[in-house]
Amino acid sequence: MPDDLFTGLNPAQQRAVQAVDGPVLVLAGPGSGKTRVLTHRVAYLIRALQVDPYQILAVTFTNKAAREMKQRLVHLVGEEAAYALTVGTFHSLCARFLRRDSVHLGRERDFVIYDGDDQERLMRRVVRELNLDEKKYAPRAMLARISSAKNELVGPAEYARLNRTYLDEIVARCYERYQQLLRQSNALDFDDLLVEMVHLFEQHPAVLGHYQRRYAYLLVDEYQDTNRAQYTLVKQLAAQRHNLFAVGDNDQSIYGWRGADIRNILQFEQDYPDAQVILLEQNYRSTQAILDTAQAVIAGGGKQKHRKNLWTDNGSGTKVSLHEGYDQDAEASFVADEIARLVASGEVSYGDCAVMYRVNAQSRALEEAFIQHGLRYQIIGGTRFYDRKEIRDVLAYLRLTANPYDNVALTRVLNWPPRGIGERSEAELTRWANELGVPLYQALREIEVGTSPFAARARSALLGFLANIDQILTMRNSLPLTDLFDAMMICLEVRETLLKEYDSEEAEDRWRNVQELRNVMNEYNHLPLESQLSTFLEEVALVAEVDKLEDKADAVTCITLHQAKGLEYPVVFLVGLEEGLLPHSRSLNEREQVEEERRLLYVGMTRARQRLYLCYAFRRATFGRSNITTRTRFLADIPKELLAQTKQQRKTTAPPAQSSMFTARSTIAGPPPKTAARPPRPAAPSSPTFAPGQHVHHPTFGDGVVVSSRLIENDEEVTVKFADKERRLLASFAKLEHL
Ligand code: ATP
Ligand code: MG
Repeated sequence: MPDDLFTGLNPAQQRAVQAVDGPVLVLAGPGSGKTRVLTHRVAYLIRALQVDPYQILAVTFTNKAAREMKQRLVHLVGEEAAYALTVGTFHSLCARFLRRDSVHLGRERDFVIYDGDDQERLMRRVVRELNLDEKKYAPRAMLARISSAKNELVGPAEYARLNRTYLDEIVARCYERYQQLLRQSNALDFDDLLVEMVHLFEQHPAVLGHYQRRYAYLLVDEYQDTNRAQYTLVKQLAAQRHNLFAVGDNDQSIYGWRGADIRNILQFEQDYPDAQVILLEQNYRSTQAILDTAQAVIAGGGKQKHRKNLWTDNGSGTKVSLHEGYDQDAEASFVADEIARLVASGEVSYGDCAVMYRVNAQSRALEEAFIQHGLRYQIIGGTRFYDRKEIRDVLAYLRLTANPYDNVALTRVLNWPPRGIGERSEAELTRWANELGVPLYQALREIEVGTSPFAARARSALLGFLANIDQILTMRNSLPLTDLFDAMMICLEVRETLLKEYDSEEAEDRWRNVQELRNVMNEYNHLPLESQLSTFLEEVALVAEVDKLEDKADAVTCITLHQAKGLEYPVVFLVGLEEGLLPHSRSLNEREQVEEERRLLYVGMTRARQRLYLCYAFRRATFGRSNITTRTRFLADIPKELLAQTKQQRKTTAPPAQSSMFTARSTIAGPPPKTAARPPRPAAPSSPTFAPGQHVHHPTFGDGVVVSSRLIENDEEVTVKFADKERRLLASFAKLEHL
């Protein structure tokens, strides 16, 4: 076995790895090797102390981080030991534990996990049932409050007791009914995974005892972002052996809005009086220039306990750039140009570059610029595969197959493929099921045997649906997952349905997506038959946005600041550093929230290894209006001499107007014409140069067929169908060639 346990560690890091008796907190700034230390400590336990890997539990912040940690450990301790470890996020671990032990809570093992979309559906139903105005009591808003309550371990009854306002009272009623319906569907939402686990441990000391004995060594990364429920879980598990190793950085606490409590890390020494606290001060990630700038921002937030010193011997490096663009499109163009320049110089590859922003909507301008420049990019958190309609529909059937009592899945596909079951019948079915006090599936069975409130047509449609479900259910236990899937596609006539619903090309695209789902299933065929479907569904439900981040293609990464936590890239662009975006307009009221936004900026800046660009736009269009912006207050905390400032020349002359009406509009209220920020096209075309049906070639997307084309302002917008999807391109930038 290679002896590299200590070779890549400095003395303080080595101390942290070796301090194995009692609780240890490693409190250290970004890039100081906390995650590395945690990983090496696992290896040390196994290799030096002969701890059974089965007894080690490591908690990471994302599933991607868990996978990476396992991979590193394969090198450090070998495959067998690495696979015997328990590594995962709080949510995935709780899902796994509950599968095993939720029977103690009177719950069935094969519960389903609802994602955001399912939750919204269910809450909409609750709001309607309680005769509330959906506009006033938006399901999402209700869910946000309930989620906060759950993160604080406040259940429906306690919520009702604590309520102070009329709104609280409404939320309490929704909360109670929402939980009832979840239970009836044998479903849990994400927050429930943690809450149920805490309850299980509270109510069944013997079960807790079992876990405490089994996991003699606990390790938690990003401890500063634990919420009350997670903190309680850690406390429960560590209560007996006190072998807790937590690493974190209070300056990087950015999930307060989701209930994370910065006090958890600050109180570690009170919670565990025998704790050792180890500080790491050398940063291995960034240049001194980047570090100085980031420190200036975080220091601007005033005094804090445990202020850390960070230094690096990576050299001073290139000055941090501060760039003002004219508007968001110009800002995006600047980013694209700069990346193209760096890549052309041979200094970096696309995959070395990341662009980070506060809200997902900011990626739109970037995407456009990257397409125009022909740069490869990936957007983390764009339209996700699992959010596509056909995928969600098919998944709903798979969920029903695993658990026919899943009401949300059932209503989703009650009329897909279409069977003539209208909203009225659906409402009637729900009402009737409520009256009987049974899940919808059970109610369908009742129709079969007795009197029901349905007219003959609706009755036979509903029974047709039931027959389909039952047929699939009979195959559930005898077929491997992919075969079950194929049989289901035939039984439901999925392909035929898609062909009826969409034109042939789109139907084929969607069918290809469905087949892609089957490819995913291949990986589960080797599991025992009875756990294939449930394991597959569980992992699908737990795929978090950032987990889809794969470094396969050499592409620029576009990602939100929140998701960028823990990651590092040689070149980082932070865009939209303006008041209202960062700090976000929602955070302006409270000082603590503004400080969280400051930490978010700090997290972003400290992702950079060699080059960092801070960008903002002079004007920005939001909600269709273009306004002059104010650059973020946090920039004022950076001494000027640390920054290399550049500014785009503002356009003073208006682009050639096409009509007087157009000019009038653009000078009075509208946003400046897009062309203001782009190189003007030499001559505006007077008629489209592309026509539907023409075959064209694009340097990045390959061959395609023109769907339509139209003249806009002084350019031509061409819609082209490529092998993977349809795209709208501007002829002046897209470098489209006629074939
Ligand atoms: P963050 O707070 O952003 O999560 P971190 O403290 O977890 O940062 P790591 O990601 O563990 O930091 O380490 C940052 C980088 O420095 C990684 O590329 C890591 O491999 C490297 N590194 C850490 N310690 C050393 C060391 N002693 N020698 C060389 N490289 C190191
Ligand atoms: Mg880390």
